[in-house]
Amino acid sequence: MVFKMRQIVLKTAQSGLRSLPRSHKPQILKQSYRSFIATPAYREERKWSTPLAKQLTEAINTTGPIPLASFMRMCLTSDIGGYYTGAIEKDRDQFGQKGDFITSPEISQIFGELVGIWFVAEWMSQGRPKRGVELIEVGPGRGTLMDDMLRTMKNFKEMASSIETIYLVEASKELRTTQKNLLCGEDAVTTESKIGWHSTSKYSGLPIVWTDSIKAIPQDPNRTPFIVAHEFFDALPIHAFQVVDVPPNQPPPSSPPPNSSTRTTSTSPTRQWREMVVSPTPKGTTHDDLRTPKSQQHEPVPEFQLTLSPSVTRHAQYLPESSPRYQALKSTPGALIEICPDASLYASDFAVRIGGPNPPSSTPTTSSKSGISPPLPQTPPKPNPSGAALILDYGPSSTIPSNSLRGIHHHRHVSPFSAPGLVDLSADVDFGALAEAAALASPGVEIHGPVDQAFFLESMGVKQRADMLAKKLLTAGAGGEDGEEKKKKVEELERSWKRLVDRGPGGMGKVYKVLAILPENGGRRRPVGFGGDVSA
Ligand code: SAH
Repeated sequence: MVFKMRQIVLKTAQSGLRSLPRSHKPQILKQSYRSFIATPAYREERKWSTPLAKQLTEAINTTGPIPLASFMRMCLTSDIGGYYTGAIEKDRDQFGQKGDFITSPEISQIFGELVGIWFVAEWMSQGRPKRGVELIEVGPGRGTLMDDMLRTMKNFKEMASSIETIYLVEASKELRTTQKNLLCGEDAVTTESKIGWHSTSKYSGLPIVWTDSIKAIPQDPNRTPFIVAHEFFDALPIHAFQVVDVPPNQPPPSSPPPNSSTRTTSTSPTRQWREMVVSPTPKGTTHDDLRTPKSQQHEPVPEFQLTLSPSVTRHAQYLPESSPRYQALKSTPGALIEICPDASLYASDFAVRIGGPNPPSSTPTTSSKSGISPPLPQTPPKPNPSGAALILDYGPSSTIPSNSLRGIHHHRHVSPFSAPGLVDLSADVDFGALAEAAALASPGVEIHGPVDQAFFLESMGVKQRADMLAKKLLTAGAGGEDGEEKKKKVEELERSWKRLVDRGPGGMGKVYKVLAILPENGGRRRPVGFGGDVSA
């Protein structure tokens, strides 16, 4: 089974424990395994696995191969059977025992509690604002992380009463309902407005607003936004590019970029970025053609394939030129990179909410030219930067991800090009790109990390919290269990939190990273969890 797979829970209200996983079955991390195995469910020849497979094929047959990002976006959030947004499987629960994966907040309540504490510590360090605080979560899944955060924050009354609104950015209608049921109760009424959907939290009657994009959340310079994103960025669509040497005397591509050296026929090889594009796998394609590893050659050939575009696409003209990080790789023939413009947009948005926009005259030229950073026309200045963003996900600390797209279905790693809409797709997060986008978007922020999840959680006191919960479990009359049952629960509690900080190959401590965007303070104050202490 694969990470993000929800485990069955036992309610032990008196013990202060949210839940305890019951299953001890081994699970695979969502990011830990990169080979692709098609499952027998996709074996049938040319019978479309999903309605989206047929639609994509028809579209590509008309327009030509599409960028990987377009394929990924359709697969994840298309209305017609997207993985998160299309109800192609009845009562689907991506996170369930019958679902596809498991995430940290679903593994242990301690995860959300410590994230909650981190925001409380930030609130304290930023002068304990009495009002104007808003909590924003992007991609809240089942709402478990926000629920654990709110339950924790409730214990810090001054902080809890400073919160005015909770915003949840969620593309999936089904998951919005799941979140509403958890955070507001099944009977709570939802109303609709221009911004999104509204209900009232079971915690102190706080208003909760759901939107399907962060842009819909009003930007107010008097607000202090505390923003959290857990395993959200890995679900955003990526473009993939490779450096190729074009032989001399090759005719120019159909639409050459302005000032491009490919405009005229050349006598020496030219180096170009070429985009990886998706097309249906032609009939008769074999695993040998696709260079499938030997161990997987008994599986069916995937329905779609990733190939290098034979000409320079629009995105290849500007995305790999948009940052010195990518430009530095252009001298390496064969180099592969992944670029996620949406991730940069989100990071820029967070930064502007916290630190305010660049003054109009000093907007860095790269941001408008690259198309990566958002144009921020009417964003009001923010004289007193405030708030914080915490981004938790998997990916390398500073290098640019390559070849990291993966597919997951029913606890197995499968080809990301099989059964579109049924298979979850994700890719490594480029933390370096997030930091760069945030810093470029706002002069009022500074970036800390990324640090390993193990370092973050250990600094936040994961062991101490686990010890407390274990003690409660053993002493309280939790559900009238006998000693043996209590012991089992404590063992499970130990197993689950240790998994979050396990630095080994099957654990989440090293591959998962944490990055913070904070108000600029000249690097004088290091946040807790990143090597600093709470400063009240
Ligand atoms: N944070 C949760 C869920 C992670 S799964 C957890 O850790 O358990 C990714 C979440 O992001 C889901 O809730 C999914 O519906 C949402 N999502 C994915 N792409 C999105 C997009 N483009 N816009 C808004 N929400 C999106």
